[in-house]
Amino acid sequence: MQAWTKPEIPVVPGPARRLRLYDTASGGLVEVPPAAGETARMYVCGITPYDATHMGHAATYVTFDLINRLWRDAGHEVHYTQNITDIDDPLLERAAATGVDWKDLALSEIQLFRDDMTALRVIPPQDYVGVVESIDLVTSAVEDLQRAGAVYSVDEDLYFAVKADPRFGEVSGYDVETMRALFAERGGDPDREGKRDPLDSLLWRAERPGEPSWESPFGPGRPGWHVECSAIALKHLGMTFDVQGGGSDLIFPHHEMSASGAQVATGEHPFARAYVHQAMVGLDGEKMSKSKGNLVLVSKERLGGTDPMAIRLVLLAHHYRTDWFWTASDLAEAQERLDVWRGAISRGSGPDGAAVVDALRAALTNDLDTTAALAAVDQWADSNGDDTSASSLVAQAVDALLGIKL
Ligand code: ZN
Repeated sequence: MQAWTKPEIPVVPGPARRLRLYDTASGGLVEVPPAAGETARMYVCGITPYDATHMGHAATYVTFDLINRLWRDAGHEVHYTQNITDIDDPLLERAAATGVDWKDLALSEIQLFRDDMTALRVIPPQDYVGVVESIDLVTSAVEDLQRAGAVYSVDEDLYFAVKADPRFGEVSGYDVETMRALFAERGGDPDREGKRDPLDSLLWRAERPGEPSWESPFGPGRPGWHVECSAIALKHLGMTFDVQGGGSDLIFPHHEMSASGAQVATGEHPFARAYVHQAMVGLDGEKMSKSKGNLVLVSKERLGGTDPMAIRLVLLAHHYRTDWFWTASDLAEAQERLDVWRGAISRGSGPDGAAVVDALRAALTNDLDTTAALAAVDQWADSNGDDTSASSLVAQAVDALLGIKL
């Protein structure tokens, strides 16, 4: 599928730094990629296109965009793959509720997402892959699991047996009770009769009356959610890529199951070197979600005249591993910060530009410490100096590293 327009990314002079990120699986910081000069490979789980991009989604894609930018700054080629879950229960439910054909709904929401990402200056993935265009890929991934002896059926549906992976549980580190509760909450079916283990996850859902389906070696049906990401990631990136990313609500079951499935299918380990998760963004004390109806939409803000760079600055003002709540005053502060920064770069001279660029790199490569990065630019903008090249250098670095066009 076509992604979106790539923003221009200036090359920033001065020595870059190696990126360290917090890995959910090991519970510590890891350097990715491990070697200088290596192509960096990243898979970030994409949207289910049944509604517009809210600030929680935007925070996720901006966080992984920073990783992409820091790798490029350090001289790596970046191979970035993102999927689109363009067939799944929420999409069909929304289509039925609104009377819109599910395919049309998906197409219009994907286009809105592209426009949001373009406005936020997010670098597009190299492979932007829909599930509907990947059915053969997914069915062959299910066949690989069958050959590994990890598949059984309940009625006509196929399940992945999590016990086939001795490392199952390694990504989340959760105990069985927590896994079971989250599985029930996030689309799983722990109580279905006939399953061997409550945590076994659906690989192939046999055709149901009134639902779209595709032919397969297992009869007509449609793919389960987790296997689609394993299949797409393996095809485009291969095993042991650098970063598997998404929101923290994907840690379990989605990332656990995707990793397990890929490991069992290939006999290799690990699926990814680091599992990186963006914390949740809420509104009025609750997690932002479609079901609660408390969404702040990127498109609504930008079509209402908000500068997308101010939206991006709100997201960057919060560290990616801390849950936070969207507020109107955050947005006003971000707009003010943007005005101050723009004023500062138009002065013609300022304090030492190379020093602020180095401070930016140091903060961001330290597990994306965006609050420290923003503070470094604030301090530069608030001070006077006689470095006549500082303004253009700082504007370049803020553009290339933070994705903020001044
Ligand atoms: Zn995924």
